[in-house]
Amino acid sequence: ELAAVIRQQNMYTGISIVFFSVETDINRHIDAFRSGGNDFFIKGMPPQQLIAKVEAKAVHTRAGQSLMLNDPLTGLSNRTYFTAIIGKQMASCLRNQGRFSYVMLDLDHFKQVNDQFGHQAGDEVLRTLGSLITQRLRSVDTAVRFGGEEFVILLAETKLEQALMVINDLLEKISAVTFTANKRSFSVTFSAGIAEYPGYPDQTSLAEAADKALYKAKADGRNRVYLA
Ligand code: GH3
Ligand code: MG
Ligand code: MG
Repeated sequence: ELAAVIRQQNMYTGISIVFFSVETDINRHIDAFRSGGNDFFIKGMPPQQLIAKVEAKAVHTRAGQSLMLNDPLTGLSNRTYFTAIIGKQMASCLRNQGRFSYVMLDLDHFKQVNDQFGHQAGDEVLRTLGSLITQRLRSVDTAVRFGGEEFVILLAETKLEQALMVINDLLEKISAVTFTANKRSFSVTFSAGIAEYPGYPDQTSLAEAADKALYKAKADGRNRVYLA
């Protein structure tokens, strides 16, 4: 019953469920698999064997989860991960009277980078931005590759003014990088919008506010960070 309940939650798709029992009736085993079990270990095996089997299962599960929740190009989290944690993050903030800044960031004229320097050069830009973000953030922050050249960053316990400093610093760092492709060099910038939770009390209004600020930053000439 528990296995069936867990399997109804998309969030736990990547979790392995192993039954461990003295049950040898093959029909009960089949029921277990039909309820969402991934394996059935029968009690009585030597402890070392049991440990090795569980370890192998865990390693396999973690590898699968990382594939499911991370963006392979940048190493940042992906949208699936973001969707799974944003609600929890908001709930825990509310409980602890905390806050976070929600940053929406989009590379400027990125289509031109691909068109002029090739898709590989574009990928290199995304990888570099990913690693700069990872270096700049603290472990409590969350960085997500939200779509193609769009990123969402959650800065935990960070007021708008501090968030502005962090993201402006990031903008300075990525602008200072010289990329080379086909013996030509180029640099990139991004635009970003920042909104604060719980100033905007739900996910939709929070994302809309950040998006609006981003849109305004683009309209005002790009290469800048705006607060909602
Ligand atoms: P703006 O300043 O208004 O944001 O212009 P833009 O060109 O960045 O925006 P647009 O949405 O028109 O183009 C986004 C481009 O990002 C289009 C696509 O070729 C590129 N892109 C998206 N994902 C990837 C990727 O994984 N790798 C590479 N190299 N390019 C990507
Ligand atoms: Mg763009
Ligand atoms: Mg875009």
